[in-house]
Amino acid sequence: MEMGARTFGPGELPRGPHGWIEAGVLLGDGVRLVFTNRLGGVSEPPFHAMNLGMKVGDDPSKVTENRERLARYLGRDSGDFAFLEQVHGKRVVELGPGRSLDPVAWKRLRASGYAYHRADGAACPRPGPVLCVLTADCLPLALYHPRGAGALLHAGWRGTIYNIAGHGVRSLCKMVKAEPGEVSAVIGPGIGPCCYRVDRERARLFREVFGNSQGVVIEGRDGTFLDLRTANLVNLQKAGVRPERIAVLDVCTCCREEYFSHRREGRTGRQGAFLLLY
Ligand SMILES: [Zn+2]
Repeated sequence: MEMGARTFGPGELPRGPHGWIEAGVLLGDGVRLVFTNRLGGVSEPPFHAMNLGMKVGDDPSKVTENRERLARYLGRDSGDFAFLEQVHGKRVVELGPGRSLDPVAWKRLRASGYAYHRADGAACPRPGPVLCVLTADCLPLALYHPRGAGALLHAGWRGTIYNIAGHGVRSLCKMVKAEPGEVSAVIGPGIGPCCYRVDRERARLFREVFGNSQGVVIEGRDGTFLDLRTANLVNLQKAGVRPERIAVLDVCTCCREEYFSHRREGRTGRQGAFLLLY
């Protein structure tokens, strides 16, 4: 399905505690990419246990403790995390250099749990703060350019239709004044085509944007399914990223119970993707 991209199972990558995935090796040197799951935190059901989302109805003190645990694992201060108030849009925040957040973003993070309001992606040059995207079925997309910049994006079905992948590639390339041919990308854990059944209207929208022939909309025996990984692969390639530089994690958050899944559970927590540039 992946049109030249490489596909990896979770067993093929280094693992941290609780089965968290260390995927930086797929992007290049001087970069760390971590995907957490729902294990290793203190939240109570239905947010058990490692919920990192501040706006899903969980006890904020539990979320804060979970974020502190993650910060310790990553070896960074919890005040350096560029959490986004994700809204299924296409805005990519472009951050300046420096490991710490700017004072305004830091204040917002302390007050609301989010350093940047209404954004679904962030890009920064190295060394940067910790870029963060939270998900419960949507796809996290990580981008890296060897001239020293990275981006992390949140792509659910709306973000995929809005082509946030393309916006992220353009932000990143502008930042390092380079072409997209050297960009590496990782498509992280999210709902797979095995579980993402959609109604006729959603399927029609995706056919309109992606055409019939690319394996994005799949007619199954018991309904129509979307493959968001393939759709974002198409978006990345249209933006100029070479297929051999794209890695796809074959990890379905709806199939695997160690992940939060909105489709499987409804009210639930959020796992995270974290990108660190050294
Ligand atoms: Zn699945």
